Amino acid sequence: MKALLIDAPGKLRLGEFEEQGSHEGRLRLRVQAVTVCGSDLHYYKEGGIGSAVVREPFVMGHEFSGIVDDERGEEYGFPKGTLVAVDPAEFCGHCEWCEAGHPNLCPNVQFAGSPPVPGAMREFFWAKPETLFKLPLGFDATDAALLEPLGIAIHAVDLAKIRLGASVAIVGAGAIGLYLLQVARVAGAGEIHALEPLEYRRQKAKELGADAVHSTPQELLAATKGRGTDIVLEATDSPQGPEDACAVARIGGKVVLVGIPDGDRFSLTASQVRRKGLTIKLSRRMGHVYPRAIQLVASERVNLRAVATHKFRLEDAAQAFVLQAERRDGVIKSVLYIQQPQD
Ligand SMILES: [Zn+2]
Ligand SMILES: [Zn+2]
Repeated sequence: MKALLIDAPGKLRLGEFEEQGSHEGRLRLRVQAVTVCGSDLHYYKEGGIGSAVVREPFVMGHEFSGIVDDERGEEYGFPKGTLVAVDPAEFCGHCEWCEAGHPNLCPNVQFAGSPPVPGAMREFFWAKPETLFKLPLGFDATDAALLEPLGIAIHAVDLAKIRLGASVAIVGAGAIGLYLLQVARVAGAGEIHALEPLEYRRQKAKELGADAVHSTPQELLAATKGRGTDIVLEATDSPQGPEDACAVARIGGKVVLVGIPDGDRFSLTASQVRRKGLTIKLSRRMGHVYPRAIQLVASERVNLRAVATHKFRLEDAAQAFVLQAERRDGVIKSVLYIQQPQD
């Protein structure tokens, strides 16, 4: 089948892909839309994230939707032709962390698009029925793909346990930051500040409900009379992101780190985080959040489509990666259409 392959950092091509292994217990999907994630950009720019390294022609893509293309779908409640969202994570279900209700921490997880497990930037994907979600009327293939990054934001806001009316800072107004902003609002946040160096992204944060936007931590601190915010949600790809997040947290505040830093390292100024007595949490993917993600969108509490700024056919996917890596042309997130272009 046709697939987008990455051979090495910066080297993408459309090629032929044959999946290894059996498809037993899985349903065949015709992949519809795949959105490009910040983690895909790490594979593209750096060839890996920590120990997850691209070692052979590899297929990325974990934010995706498909149409059931399998007669056996009916048995599982997904008749042939049904548009579905796909949770890219297959948890083992029996390890200590799965049993404790933290499947996002499962060390045995098979996560589509995270090496060595091939992702969805290809024509067909075989999914376990338990990873599929039906969608309410009005959801299209792009919406279905975007439920995954929205789920990341829901999990991070769960970790933050926002007290009603608490002030919140969003550090980094990319797709995840813009979802964090909206979900934090639904979760009862008071004043929301967004910290983002790029003007067009600050503008987007304003449109999506930020009370104030700032280009530096100093500006944000000045706007809060030096206090900082109760909660800080960080979603950048920069090693500086966590440091900035801690800088704008109030004394005794809480910081949730969601972003994946370039180079797989970040550092914190010990005296700053220690003297403030910060609580710092690291967010890892998400658990079973799809039903809530779907409900938030269906009830129009979250604008899902606002982050999908550019659309490409799979054939032109390399352009999407260049655009997103260089943050040109007002890009937040690109959508790749596998089967046919849509407008
Ligand atoms: Zn993602
Ligand atoms: Zn497990």
